[in-house]
Amino acid sequence: MSKLLRWIAVSLPLAAVGPLASVISLAHDGSHTSTVKDLSAHFVDGALVVPAKVVDCTLSGGTETKCISLTVKPAPKNMTIGPWCPRLVTDGPDKGGIWLHNNRVHDVDGAFVKDAATFFNDKTWQLFDPATGRINVTDSEVACRAAARPDVDPKYQNHCVECQVSYVTTGTTLTYLIPLKPILVKQPAQRVGRGGVGVTFNGARLDGPAPVDAILGAHTLAPFDDCGGHVNVHVGYHIHAVTAKTTTDCLKTISIEAKHTDVIGLAMDGHAIFARANKTGEEPDGLDRCGGHKDSKLGYHYHAGKPGSNAILGCHVAETGCVVDAPGKSCLHDGWIAWFKRLFD
Ligand SMILES: [Zn+2]
Ligand SMILES: [Zn+2]
Repeated sequence: MSKLLRWIAVSLPLAAVGPLASVISLAHDGSHTSTVKDLSAHFVDGALVVPAKVVDCTLSGGTETKCISLTVKPAPKNMTIGPWCPRLVTDGPDKGGIWLHNNRVHDVDGAFVKDAATFFNDKTWQLFDPATGRINVTDSEVACRAAARPDVDPKYQNHCVECQVSYVTTGTTLTYLIPLKPILVKQPAQRVGRGGVGVTFNGARLDGPAPVDAILGAHTLAPFDDCGGHVNVHVGYHIHAVTAKTTTDCLKTISIEAKHTDVIGLAMDGHAIFARANKTGEEPDGLDRCGGHKDSKLGYHYHAGKPGSNAILGCHVAETGCVVDAPGKSCLHDGWIAWFKRLFD
């Protein structure tokens, strides 16, 4: 029997929790050693830069518990990222990424950039040189940093912004501390914070909503690639939208049940995140406002939000762990702040 089938066999009688949560919280012999081994096996080779381990952690609501510690690099493994900005107004959709607007996904091709003033109904948009058709792109680290900061350098307004993973400070890693067992809260809340909503088995961050209004406010466009992600210099590659392509071509996914969609990653509260639509395009029923539902076989789990929604998860139903910038660090939301937060959870 494959490892996955063994996990399912172990998980099925415990329908109260999602499959990966079961995998994490109850390995077949119940030991942390096998939990770590089994969960690590889901990750693409080389995605974890130090071996996963179980550590003490304090969750967002103040619960002290055990978390799995997963350390990844700013670039996802076994995944081609980009392109983001087309270079010429004549470029086709293969030269650019996507943009999310009014719940829809739009291709950022040359024509999109050319028509930005009409699309956004604002004459200030002028992202290209009308004489040459060349698009203004932040094609250096200096330009990326200046254009991506909250107060965009006026020099880089009316630019298509893209940053490369090579701009991220050398040696940067991100350590996700995710509870082995979800601790449900009374009031589901966004609990996204700076750590994002979860992590994929390639080591890519599943992020909270992109600040599209702030980006557009500076007359910049920071497209996502066709996998739904882009790069910032602090955390590297991160995904804001799970598109059909994200599931089929970009991420390592795990098929658990033929009728259901595939698992794409782990949420920061220890539940599994599944893709939105299955291979025939069917979407799940009865999702709560966080994007989750309970299934008699799979237990509670999330489905990623519609790609245009700019929200992979609406909220978390359980206390979240955190992301720290070095293995061995603990979540900062401990102490009295967590105690205080627990009053509202
Ligand atoms: Zn982003
Ligand atoms: Zn489901």
